[in-house]
Formats: sequence, C-alpha cells, structure tokens
Amino acid sequence: MKDTGTGPAPERLAAVKGMNDVLPADAAYWERVEAAIGALARAYGYSQIRTPIVEFTRLFRRGIGAVTDIVEKEMYSFRDALNGEELSLRPECTASVVRAAIEHNLLYDGPKRLWYAGPMFRHEKPQLGRSRQFHQFGVEALGFAGPDVDAEVILMGARLWDDLGLGHVRLEINSIGEAPERARHRADLIAYLEAHQEGLDEDARRRLYSNPLRILDTKNPAMQEIADGAPRLVDYLGDESRGHFEALQVLLRDSGIGFSVNPRLVRGLDYYNRTVFEWISSGLGSQGTICGGGRYDALMALMGGKSAPACGFAIGLERVIALLHQEAPLAPGESCDVYLVHQGAAAGRLALRVAEGLRSAGLDVVLHCSPDGQGSSFKSQMKRADSSGAPFAVILGDEEVAAGCASVKALREAAPASQGPQQRVALDQLSDYLVGQLVGTGDFEE
Ligand code: ATP
Ligand code: MG
Repeated sequence: MKDTGTGPAPERLAAVKGMNDVLPADAAYWERVEAAIGALARAYGYSQIRTPIVEFTRLFRRGIGAVTDIVEKEMYSFRDALNGEELSLRPECTASVVRAAIEHNLLYDGPKRLWYAGPMFRHEKPQLGRSRQFHQFGVEALGFAGPDVDAEVILMGARLWDDLGLGHVRLEINSIGEAPERARHRADLIAYLEAHQEGLDEDARRRLYSNPLRILDTKNPAMQEIADGAPRLVDYLGDESRGHFEALQVLLRDSGIGFSVNPRLVRGLDYYNRTVFEWISSGLGSQGTICGGGRYDALMALMGGKSAPACGFAIGLERVIALLHQEAPLAPGESCDVYLVHQGAAAGRLALRVAEGLRSAGLDVVLHCSPDGQGSSFKSQMKRADSSGAPFAVILGDEEVAAGCASVKALREAAPASQGPQQRVALDQLSDYLVGQLVGTGDFEE
C-alpha cells in the first residue's frame, strides 16, 4: 500500500486464532469430501438436516452434559447484548438435531435417518488436528433400537474411507451399557481410583467424582497401568446390553469389517449408552480419531421429547482431509475449457457475449480481463491462457470481428486441434466446434 504520509498504515487484520481459511488450493479436497458425503448419505437413505450454528447454551449443557470437557471449558458462550439470552456456538450437532427433531415432530410417522455437515466451535488449544472452528459430517438414525442400525452407521464409515481411498483406518468398539450398569461400575471404579490416589494426575483427580469413566480414556502414559487395572465396564453389563453388543459384533463380522473391542473406550459426551465406537487413523499422530459415534437412547427423552432410541456418528473433516493429503492426494485442480483472449475495442465488446454463448453451451470459460482495465498485450494474454490450464484459447481480434469468426488455438498437445496451429471458426459454429473437440479429448462432461 502507498504511504500517503497522512497517518499510520491501517492495521492488517488476521483471522481469529484457531479459525482457519480454506484457500483455493485446498478447496478441491473439500469439494471431493463433500461430494463423497452426499453420495454416501443417498446410498443409505439419509436425509439432510441443517440446524442453526447458534443455540441456547442450556441445550448443550443438558444434551452433552454439564461435566464434560466440551461444556466445562470448550464452549463459545456469550450473552446476546440485545436481549440478554445465553447463547453458544454449537460445539457439535447431535443435541441440535435432536432438538430440531422434537421441535418439528419429525418422528411422527416413524424413525428418521438424518445427516448434517458444517462448522462446529470449541475453544481448545489449536494444534495439528485441532482447531477452534472445525467441520463435522454426522449421521443420526433416530427411532431405531436394534444393533442393525449400529452396524449400518459403522458400515457407512467403512464405505466412506474406501470411497476416499483411505486405507489405514482401524475401528474400535465398546459397550458402555445402561445407566444402572454404569452406576454399579462407577462405584467400584471410584473405590479403585481412591485406592490409587497417589498415581492419579491432576486431570484424573479433578474428574474422580465428576466423570471417573473418562479417566480410563487418559492419554497420559504414566497413568496407563492404573487405567489397565481398573474395573472394566464390559464386566458389568446385564444380559440385554451384552446381547446387543454381541449381536453387533456378529453383524460386523458378517460384513467383513475388522474391529477390535477396546474395553476402555468411552466417549467424551454424556449421552451415549451401549455401543460406542471410534475410527482411528495411524497417520495423524495423537489426534488420530477421525470419527466417533455410538448409541444415545436416552437423549430424546432427556431433551423433552418422546423417548426414542438413536445411534449416530460425527466425522472430523479437517482430519479426513489431512489424511487425504497423505494417502490419496488429488491431481492439480480442474481447469476451465476455454480462455478467451481479445484485442481491440470491438473485440472487447464482443468477447463478453461470445463467452456467455459458450457458457450457455456448457463450456467453462475464463474471459481475459486486464488488471488495469486498459487492455493487455496479446503476448501477456496468451501467457495467461497457457497457465490457466485450459485446453483451448479462443482469440478475438479486429480481423476476427470483421470476418464474424474466432481463432481457436489448442494449448495442450493432447488436444486434436493441435494438428494445425490455429483454426478459424465462424462465431455461430464456435460452441459446437469446441464441444466436439472437447468430447474428443474426454475433457467435456455434459
Ligand atoms: P478428541 O478426543 O480428539 O478431543 P472428541 O471426543 O472431543 O475428540 P467428538 O466430540 O466425538 O470428539 O467429535 C468427533 C470428531 O470430530 C473427532 O473424532 C474429531 O475427528 C473431530 N474433532 C473434535 N474436536 C475437534 C477439533 N477441535 N478440531 C478438529 N477436529 C475435531
Ligand atoms: Mg475433544
């Protein structure tokens, strides 16, 4: 910026820490993942639901649980300065989907399979695989009690990894039973942890009475021994929970899905019961979980709706995209079909209309516009055309305007028009000609 000497240069603004831009170079990855998600949801009969980013804070406090990490210390909560309402940016979407399902009575005519995708917000320490605005794709199967739907949502994950070309993802499953089973286990677990007080880290001491189950999920190496020796929740399951868990394992084996049972797997949200699972990648270091899910049969009633069993998952899309970069990188971005070069006032006026005509025929066209608005030399325009990646340049100059035609130049050797250096084509035949050429190269999709 030019220093006019009239004062300090204006402050350069940056994005909020932990909230990242997706730049054009990365956008192709997002588009790829979004396309895969849409196709996956259709293949399994899930319908999209879009809920607001801002909800009442008490929705999350009640839905996720007041003593969870998310609600205790990760939520962006604020008071609406205009009306005093206590609001939060959504840290996840299950509570919102359940709220919407109840509010709009979505289950009135039977169970519903729903999916969502969008930004979530958690005030965490930004690091690799962890940001403050991140994106999740999730499904929620509402109104289904059986292990078949647990298996279905797990299979959806497996299919998505496959579709995206991600190989190194493993599945861990566990059952955390029902509330009375957890209560019995909890009492024994607290007694056990109290007996090992001296070995607990600060986090574990803090959670000892509020969320002892979560202590078993510790990533602290010094605590592994204590966690390994703790009473296992699976040993407290009653017949029904055990039957559900075993039936799920049979279905997964039938489907050829590899998994391991991790008796210490618990999820960081309060609403889960019975089945919990995670898909974990080995390629992302300690932030390797790309999908977490499970059953939440009590949530509908807890949120004030009619009781209905449910099951779902949430996938962290930034982590999936980081894996794509490693395991299945995309070829350089798609280019346009035509770069339109023009010189002279008459050609400049015609160019806009010619470009529109080509677009109406289904072609992707970039029209040259000069940076200074004064027009560009032919040479510099052809340079731009080359670096655009377009297979063809369409050239309009005084001669072409006078003759009612355009010159077409093939820019890539593979294009058949490179037989001759340049081809004159009448304007009223230009789109047909180009489509014909592009179909020949396999570049054109109608
Ligand atoms: P973690 O143990 O990594 O904190 P979590 O249990 O908080 O995960 P969930 O609430 O189950 O995660 O969210 C599901 C998925 O969303 C995670 O497996 C992860 O892929 C992604 N995710 C969660 N928090 C973040 C974040 N801050 N940044 C990026 N992705 C995230
Ligand atoms: Mg977390």
